[in-house]
Amino acid sequence: MAQETIFSKIINREIESDILYQDVLVTAFRDILPKAPIHVLIVPNILIQNVNQVKQEHEMILGRMFIVAARIAKQEKIDKKGYRLIINCNEHGGQEVHHIHMHLLGGKKLGPIL
Ligand code: 5GP
Repeated sequence: MAQETIFSKIINREIESDILYQDVLVTAFRDILPKAPIHVLIVPNILIQNVNQVKQEHEMILGRMFIVAARIAKQEKIDKKGYRLIINCNEHGGQEVHHIHMHLLGGKKLGPIL
């Protein structure tokens, strides 16, 4: 059985966080240690550990993550200038929380990642 992480507690509102959006599939909240002026995490409500665990049945959840990212980008007024979406996977990808999540970063010109 996959281990629940801090993100499950945020989704279930057992711990405090700045939730911007929630529906039956996904939750979006501000990162506690923002790496840019806007830094939001978009996560599925169910535990999928990382991209390696993604299955066909998750298509709708993954699609919703993109829809919510675009919606929040507009809400935060970073859609026109642009932003970056990142999903880290495992050690080499720099994933620290093993509950798949999309980082939405913006609000300034971001440096190259490669
Ligand atoms: P990763 O490195 O796994 O891709 O990103 C995990 C992110 O989760 C980090 O940017 C980190 O700051 C954020 N994070 C970790 N714990 C918490 C928390 O308790 N609350 C919130 N809002 N963000 C968290």
